[in-house]
Amino acid sequence: MGEATRRGGAPKTDLEKGYDAAEREQIARVRQGAHRHAVLNLGRARTAGDQSARTDAVAAIHAEAARVLDDATESFLRAARDGPAIAARIACRKGCAFCCYVQVEATVVEVSGVAAVVEKDAALVRSVLETAPRVAGLDALGRARARVPCPLLRDGACSIYADRPRSCRALTSYDARRCEDDLNQPDVPREPTRTFTWPRVLASAATEGIRGACRDLGLQDCTVELTEGVAAVLRDPAIVARWLAGEAVFPEYKATRGA
Ligand code: SF4
Repeated sequence: MGEATRRGGAPKTDLEKGYDAAEREQIARVRQGAHRHAVLNLGRARTAGDQSARTDAVAAIHAEAARVLDDATESFLRAARDGPAIAARIACRKGCAFCCYVQVEATVVEVSGVAAVVEKDAALVRSVLETAPRVAGLDALGRARARVPCPLLRDGACSIYADRPRSCRALTSYDARRCEDDLNQPDVPREPTRTFTWPRVLASAATEGIRGACRDLGLQDCTVELTEGVAAVLRDPAIVARWLAGEAVFPEYKATRGA
């Protein structure tokens, strides 16, 4: 594995560029596996007899992609020559939440999976519905300037940690101080914070696979902003059925500088 030579970089647009044969194979496996699993479960969701079965089928896609990503990251850190050094360098800890004040880009599948968890907790539902209007329409820089915490942040920790989206799951930092600076001074131009790249590459591969499955089935395949998307599902759970029927019902993610 060549992580030592590329750690700190952002995921590449061409996901497989610059990786060795084994890495390219793993990227392709994650993408294809996510695609296959999504086609299967989206098909189940479309023919489900009720909303609960529909929600379960869509949530299963998010859960499986999360499991694959977590397993692959753990295996890498265990097996790679520089794995232990990377693990020791990762600054992320429970209670450190400087990165939970930014926009989170997520697929419709992730948003539906997260909404299914959030709806079981009345306080979280309230938090999402109160926050959504405050962040609606903001781009990444506007959101950073607004300093609005993620509505799923509770006592400094992610309240849906096991079910958090891939963007959150795959993001690590080698420097918590830099994350704090990014939060406090969003207008100051800086080099991107140094991160462990491999999980982000695999998360992007899973996203590509799932979005490809949506396209193949004629579904809106855009990404959405997490808070806005979850709020849309909580306000109107039937929106997922309409999406599964091929309607373009979700507002597309708005990315700008650094997003
Ligand atoms: S979903 Fe969890 S990890 Fe992601 S931004 Fe929100 S609180 Fe943070």
